[in-house]
Amino acid sequence: MRAYVIHYGEIALKGKNREVFERKLIENINRKIWEIGVKVKRRFGRLVIYADDQRIAEKLKKTPGIKYFALAEVCDLDIDEIKKKALETLPRKTKTFKIETKRSNKNFPYTSIEINRVVGEYILKRRDGIRVDLNNPDTKIFIEICEKECFIYTSKIPSIGGLPAGVAGKVISLISGGIDSPVSAFMIMKRGCEVIAVHFFNSTLHSPEVREKIKMIAEKLSEFHEIRLYMVPFEDIQKEIIRLIPSKYRMVVYRRSMMRMANIIAEKEDAKAIVTGDSLSQVASQTLDNLNVIYNASSLPVLSPLIGMDKEEIIEVAKKIGTYEISILPYEDCCSLMIAKHPETRAKLNEILRIESSSGFSKNCDKLEREAVEKSEIFEFG
Ligand code: ATP
Ligand code: MG
Repeated sequence: MRAYVIHYGEIALKGKNREVFERKLIENINRKIWEIGVKVKRRFGRLVIYADDQRIAEKLKKTPGIKYFALAEVCDLDIDEIKKKALETLPRKTKTFKIETKRSNKNFPYTSIEINRVVGEYILKRRDGIRVDLNNPDTKIFIEICEKECFIYTSKIPSIGGLPAGVAGKVISLISGGIDSPVSAFMIMKRGCEVIAVHFFNSTLHSPEVREKIKMIAEKLSEFHEIRLYMVPFEDIQKEIIRLIPSKYRMVVYRRSMMRMANIIAEKEDAKAIVTGDSLSQVASQTLDNLNVIYNASSLPVLSPLIGMDKEEIIEVAKKIGTYEISILPYEDCCSLMIAKHPETRAKLNEILRIESSSGFSKNCDKLEREAVEKSEIFEFG
């Protein structure tokens, strides 16, 4: 019999929260594999799925909170059977090997070191020309001694690590059509957040393809954890901004408006922070001065996981998680269309507040923003 043995990293460090973390991870994995007709079981510091369907591996590779997993041979707690199974799992072409045993069941009559030795000796007698290499072996045989059974495997498959999505609470993640914001949503998901994606969409400026592109991004991100997407109609507010605000300040004003709408959605969804794809000084909207004025419009904390990353680093993650190919589809997002030739890069809060109020924008924006959120379309992914 074979089984997937799943290991989590940080969870084990979280002391009394461990129970909560494990339960969430189990729930998240079960939701992903229910269609395969199997369930994950808790087994003393690890999780186990008694099945060997390849589709399970594809799901586990994309589950936040899993550090690595393996497809293992399951065998009884019997040293003779362990020796035989270890020999069977060893690939034929192996010239050098090493055994690494982890014994969580301290009642098993052999210590980890003794198991390494007796199983190693057994293999050395039965494979010609093979030898042990503790530093750089062709193959490592991993043996895990648990309460009721033993797992043996030779290949650890890395997953994405981090924490199970949901243990850290909910956030509102602002998703544009660009490369950065999907990466920021992924990174915050990996830190244990459930993500509500929000996109502000201008139906008079954008082709319907933009909507499809945003949905494709949400769909891709939902491979990691399920996602709800709000598509918020932005045209009335943008029209108002274009009518009332000098072009130089529009970008800061419309991003402040996005922040307020994100806060309205956060209240409905009981989310505790707003997430953006800002990276410090990457573009005009992301200078310290401008970010200060933009984030000031949010009562909830604004988290920007990419703030210290270079574009190349962000692109590397985008490629790894599969959003890059979608992000580079040639459909413009709101931002690129609203940008003035010489946008303000050093906005002052007092000045922006004065412009918002003297132009008459503040008077109406609250109503327009509430209406826009009310008119949002909501999609579920994953
Ligand atoms: P990205 O690559 O994520 O588009 P960017 O480098 O183009 O970012 P901006 O266009 O200034 O930078 O956007 C900064 C952030 O503001 C985005 O990462 C995103 O979180 C948010 N944002 C911008 N436009 C929208 C939009 N139309 N809908 C939702 N969020 C948006
Ligand atoms: Mg953008």
